[in-house]
Amino acid sequence: MKPLIILLLTLWIAPPVISQNYGALRNNMVRTQLETRGINHRATLEAMSKVERHLFVPSAYQKHAYDDAPLPIGYDQTISQPYIVAYMTQLLAPKAGDRVLEIGTGSGYQAAILAEIVDEVYTIEIVKELGERSKKLMGKLGYDNVEVIIGDGYKGLAAKAPFDGIIVTAAAEEIPPPLIEQLRDGGKMVMPVGPSASVQTLMLVEKQDGKIIKTNLTPVRFVPFTRQKK
Ligand code: SAH
Repeated sequence: MKPLIILLLTLWIAPPVISQNYGALRNNMVRTQLETRGINHRATLEAMSKVERHLFVPSAYQKHAYDDAPLPIGYDQTISQPYIVAYMTQLLAPKAGDRVLEIGTGSGYQAAILAEIVDEVYTIEIVKELGERSKKLMGKLGYDNVEVIIGDGYKGLAAKAPFDGIIVTAAAEEIPPPLIEQLRDGGKMVMPVGPSASVQTLMLVEKQDGKIIKTNLTPVRFVPFTRQKK
């Protein structure tokens, strides 16, 4: 065969082969990293099987997108390990019809997972460049139920409150009071709480009949929750 024909054939065949590999890696990730560790919330597993995590990481890390690890996404930030994303999503127990707020858009991956399950996702990112990149990616992937807002998430998003679920993906010393206020009665919030330079505790906060119930779950390590300078 002529080299040009071989080249054209290779180009034509190559993309599906690559995406099939990612599909296999993704299914393997769901089975070996999530199901075996107790993730059993159906909608979470389906979203984790569907969303192409490799599209949310820089190209140099794409081949590691389904590894059991967090990855750098630029600007000193990271995309969480797949298990942590699934675990936090399962804790929120999201369902169709819900409205969810995320603080810390980062790559947009967690927002996409939620967008597969709930009706409305609002996600706030403090690093402008990351927010803009994610906004573009959400549009490209057709997630028209996600709104990316650039700003300091400490104050939440009063205009769209109350939320059925709030997920914070950066660690603060304490839970920002506006977020607790913006949680619907019966709603759930998941957030890492603790010192930024060390290990934090993943906390579940539930609002029931106006009462706040806090449960400490597991040690985690997240990037710090930062504040916008006045
Ligand atoms: N959920 C993300 C994880 C990103 S890491 C993902 O799926 O990729 C946490 C993100 O929180 C970082 O991008 C960081 O810039 C952002 N962040 C930190 N403090 C914040 C704040 N006060 N408001 C909004 N975003 C914040």
